[in-house]
Amino acid sequence: MEGDASRRDTLIRMTAGDGRIRAVAALTTQTVDEARARHQTSPIATAALGKALTGGLLLSAALMKDGGRLTVRVLGQGPLGGIIVDAGFDGSVRGYVARPDLQLPVTAQGTLDIGGAVGREGFLYVTHDSGLGHPYTGVVELVSGELGEDFTHYLATSEQIPAAVSLGIYVEADGRVSSAGGLLVQLLPGAGDEIAWRLEQNIRALPGFTTLARKWGTPEEIARAALTGFQSEILSSQAIAFSCQCSSERVLTAIASLGQKEIRAMLDEDGKAEVRCHFCNEEYVVSGAQLAEMLEAS
Ligand code: ZN
Repeated sequence: MEGDASRRDTLIRMTAGDGRIRAVAALTTQTVDEARARHQTSPIATAALGKALTGGLLLSAALMKDGGRLTVRVLGQGPLGGIIVDAGFDGSVRGYVARPDLQLPVTAQGTLDIGGAVGREGFLYVTHDSGLGHPYTGVVELVSGELGEDFTHYLATSEQIPAAVSLGIYVEADGRVSSAGGLLVQLLPGAGDEIAWRLEQNIRALPGFTTLARKWGTPEEIARAALTGFQSEILSSQAIAFSCQCSSERVLTAIASLGQKEIRAMLDEDGKAEVRCHFCNEEYVVSGAQLAEMLEAS
């Protein structure tokens, strides 16, 4: 709904329990639906990509600082193939999936079989780029391929952060996304057993994310549901959007870097160059005249 600010995708970061608990909650419905429209994803691919996009945003908000970005790669052995997501601390995110058209039967419970699509075996890689150089990558084996559990396992194992990640994407019969988002709750160093125990009870009592989102409607209320009984306060709130850094200038630079021989071959064989951005599926066409100009300039 355009113009309705309360419906815009938002991510909030909160603190609770005398600074010993951090919570990040996000509603990502429009963002995930834009990914669906751009990549023309099937319902199962929409749900898996949507969870990875949302998980990437939550992790970026929890682990990075201003200017930082995370790349999440889910490389499972299932028929969906890999999922790649690039998520920034600034709330921008983009991503794609290897098999956007995958069709799979629903589970016995009638739900989308995300674990079956992603694969219950494989790896989750998370690359941290602070923007100041020296990116590094953490990796864990997948637990279930359902992604919420896999992100939880990643935080516990690779980052040594006790946390719980819940992700929910609801795809309607016509393929559109009507609800998407996620919640990440983590214990910070120094949290005693009392805080840990109470938080765990809260998290166990929570329903799945889609039910939470339907009941509460804003990231703040969703996070407060997880923080019941604790004093909590908002650290930051920001808009979330599907956003890609590709541009025709970048495409021209990339083609120019291929060298004379390649450019000459494109010109002779196709009379132009067509380049599609993996991340956002935008297509760029470089005309024969532009290719000829590059050859003259080089
Ligand atoms: Zn792009």
